[in-house]
Amino acid sequence: MTRLILTLNTGSSSAKFALFEPGATPTDTPVERLRGQVSAIRSDPQLTYRVEGGEAVRTPAPGAGTHKGALAAILDVVNAQFPNAEVPVVGHRIVHGGTRMTGPTRVDAHVRDYLASLTPFAPLHQPHGLSGLEAAIAQFPDAVQFACFDTSFHRGQPFESDAYALPRSYFDKGIRRYGFHGLSYDYIAGEMRRIAPEARRVVIAHLGNGSSMCAVKDGRSVDSTMGFTALDGLVMGTRCGQLDPGVVLYMLEQEGMSAAEVSEVLYKRSGLLGLSGISNDMRVLEASGAAQAREAISVFVARIRREFGALTAVLGGVDAFVFTAGIGENSASIRAQVCEGMDWFGLALDPEKNAAGEGLISAEGSRVGVYAIRTDEEMTIAKAAAAFLD
Ligand code: AMP
Repeated sequence: MTRLILTLNTGSSSAKFALFEPGATPTDTPVERLRGQVSAIRSDPQLTYRVEGGEAVRTPAPGAGTHKGALAAILDVVNAQFPNAEVPVVGHRIVHGGTRMTGPTRVDAHVRDYLASLTPFAPLHQPHGLSGLEAAIAQFPDAVQFACFDTSFHRGQPFESDAYALPRSYFDKGIRRYGFHGLSYDYIAGEMRRIAPEARRVVIAHLGNGSSMCAVKDGRSVDSTMGFTALDGLVMGTRCGQLDPGVVLYMLEQEGMSAAEVSEVLYKRSGLLGLSGISNDMRVLEASGAAQAREAISVFVARIRREFGALTAVLGGVDAFVFTAGIGENSASIRAQVCEGMDWFGLALDPEKNAAGEGLISAEGSRVGVYAIRTDEEMTIAKAAAAFLD
């Protein structure tokens, strides 16, 4: 009987899933057999998936209007496509692992309680991962459930990257700079070890609907732009990024806004959408001729350039600069704007390679290697499964 690893990445309205066959040995890369998602879970659930080498399938999934229903729909696909397969392990992406979860962790009752206790730290994200976990435990009661955390990759950061200059008691309570997108950074750091092992100091820009950057030294995170929550750092689709906390005080005290209203502005009505008034989607903004779309992009790019400088200083120099995620992988124009005028520093793009957007895209002779690499968070989870298979 074939044994398959199931990975689950449950968000507020979607559940992404993938099936991998384990490698022959624990260090071999798992082989992807199927990937898909249930989208619009609460409104108009749709199931999309593609079996290795096949055509994409998309069907309405009326029973998938809850996370439990979505998991049942996913189980149906697994059973229909791989009737003779067994799923001994299910790996979950969970946003927050707090201070205790420094790597992939088998989920038992204690771990579930700990993860639930972190909900106040990530109220918009943690509950969805946990509801995916509960649904998977119900659907796959005999499987080992393990979790991979977006925060784990950053837990080894030094104190000066981890702490806010608040009264020390806040640090002790867990008000720290956790950093996120760790599964993506873990994957890219692994790819860089393979493609450019000589690059010891790497800055990675994960530019998607959520965006952040990370300074990686010898494969480990030493600093990142996201902090206590996924609001900090770069300009995002609808999130504000770095902000003077005085602005929040102004909203509360002078504008009489409630905490819920401030949260709505910072998480859902800011970023590219807020600045442009047009869209949170970079493709729409790039296609728009409107001045406000151009201005939103220019703020997005300026923040990335500033953080690139800051993270380079933290690393004491940089050998490689990697672009990844939806915008980083696909927009040659954003990559070009970010790297513009950096020749003085020994960083230059090759325009043709940048337009092609695969792997090394810097010019010959550029001291800093610039790369565009497709990220794969599911693969990070699948690789972690080796430790839980037996
Ligand atoms: P992600 O969150 O990683 O799925 O990335 C979503 C973002 O990537 C959205 O802002 C999309 O507009 C953007 N994106 C995807 N494809 C392209 C493209 N070809 N050019 C520019 N932006 C893109």
